[in-house]
Amino acid sequence: MKKATVMSTLKKKIKEHQYKFTTQRKIVLQAFLDSKENHMSAEDVYEIVHEENPAIGLATVYRSLELFTSLELLKKLDFGDGRSRYELNDKTITHSHHHLICLGCGKVVEFSYDFLNDVKDKIQKENGFNIVDYQLKFYGYCKDCIKKANNNKG
Ligand SMILES: [Zn+2]
Ligand SMILES: [Zn+2]
Repeated sequence: MKKATVMSTLKKKIKEHQYKFTTQRKIVLQAFLDSKENHMSAEDVYEIVHEENPAIGLATVYRSLELFTSLELLKKLDFGDGRSRYELNDKTITHSHHHLICLGCGKVVEFSYDFLNDVKDKIQKENGFNIVDYQLKFYGYCKDCIKKANNNKG
């Protein structure tokens, strides 16, 4: 999906919820569209937006992230390292994806498998449970870390 299309979707959702689409809010969302890193902490976002607009403080970034999370534009993620990360919500942007988390370097890799939707449907049917969201996290070591470990062995 084109960035501009995503942005107008986000804008529409914010307005639907009777919030103003302010310049500050736009800059925070733009950071998510422009960053190569999909999963950003509040500090990561702050670094990007502060460069764009020095008037935006960390408190504003925190407030925006909380608002966007409550509006389900962003998803708050916990990769177990004590720092919350945020990413654009799949429901708004793309299809469902999941995470591989490296215990060595902290890298987070995304993956998605369509068969997980079948699993979800099955669980839903068998339990009479309306699943609206799910997340899978696999912890382990990435290729680079495995290579490094092997090199260290000599
Ligand atoms: Zn790694
Ligand atoms: Zn992700």
